[in-house]
Amino acid sequence: MEPRSLRHARKQPASKPLFALLLVLITAGIAVGVAGWNMLRSAPSPEDAGIAGPPAESRDAEALDGSQRIANTSSEEPESAALRAEEQALLEAEQARLAAEEQEAAYYRSREAAAAAMEADLVVMPATAYPGDVVLVRARQEGELEWQGKTYPLQPFGTGFYTYIPIPIRTEPGSYELGEASLTVLAKAFDTQRLEVSEEQNSMRQNTERIAEDQKQIDAARASSEPVFLFAADSPFLLPVEGRLTTPFGFTRYVNGAYAGSHTAIDLAAPEGTPVVATQSGIVGLAADFYLTGNTIYIDHGMGLFSQYAHLSELLVETGDEVEAGQVIGLVGSTGFSTGPHLHFTFWAHNVPVNPNLFLDQLPFHWMEPGEPE
Ligand SMILES: [Zn+2]
Repeated sequence: MEPRSLRHARKQPASKPLFALLLVLITAGIAVGVAGWNMLRSAPSPEDAGIAGPPAESRDAEALDGSQRIANTSSEEPESAALRAEEQALLEAEQARLAAEEQEAAYYRSREAAAAAMEADLVVMPATAYPGDVVLVRARQEGELEWQGKTYPLQPFGTGFYTYIPIPIRTEPGSYELGEASLTVLAKAFDTQRLEVSEEQNSMRQNTERIAEDQKQIDAARASSEPVFLFAADSPFLLPVEGRLTTPFGFTRYVNGAYAGSHTAIDLAAPEGTPVVATQSGIVGLAADFYLTGNTIYIDHGMGLFSQYAHLSELLVETGDEVEAGQVIGLVGSTGFSTGPHLHFTFWAHNVPVNPNLFLDQLPFHWMEPGEPE
């Protein structure tokens, strides 16, 4: 295995002229921060309208109290106006931090799960997964992760830093270091599928020049992702079409007796022309006709996560379009290398195909349980 490490960027120390002021403000800041954090951790029910609900109002009330306290203690100083302006700025920064914390926490399954993830220096969610899965990593500080020879920069969100880490389908089971945390990959058996197609159709797969040309365009599109989560905390991932599952994720495929790799998607058979909806909101990274996958759409959901819809009879969106979860984006077809009308559907995390079943009928972070902080 390749070496992996988490490199934290170090913050600059506070400058001396600000030191005295900071000392005064730290007390107030801690009071506000602790109040907010305690509420996040110990509110009685995760069901009471979520973390962004009633506690936010009471938190604002706490912050207001803190503001008044600071104003009173500093009003007798000679440079009180200037100090108050600085205090106000710091207070606003603290309020912004608390709001970011609330926004981030709303994505988690529960208040407890959010608190557990936010308390850890580095948390892998989930800490146990299978080949072909994807995990989400949250770090307390910015930096990057190395995993299987690739570098994954952590992107800011809320009060933390995030990246998806794909577990390629051929990853050996075992325990891996991921920065300062660990990831356990369990063994999983994938069935074999044997396809028989006409020699004419099979010869399609040999046009390597055209296939390589397409691949360049696809790789470029999937390399460019918005560094934010483009979906709301309360917007579930949707099954893009109601269809009969003809090929599950991960099947090892043989076409006319020859090994043809793993099928890293699900195939859903449905009548030609059946509407296909976006699984989640995002931005169309690419909508074009490709040699093997036919009319194909890639939707960027941010943070390096894309969904893919292939073999469509029609494309109803264009590259660059913003789409919402549930919006019709195309129609089921059999374009490209396909034996009948179906939707080939999958997710990609940082250009690695990952199991779409993890996401379906789930809210954004709910397929992940935070790992045990170490
Ligand atoms: Zn397929």
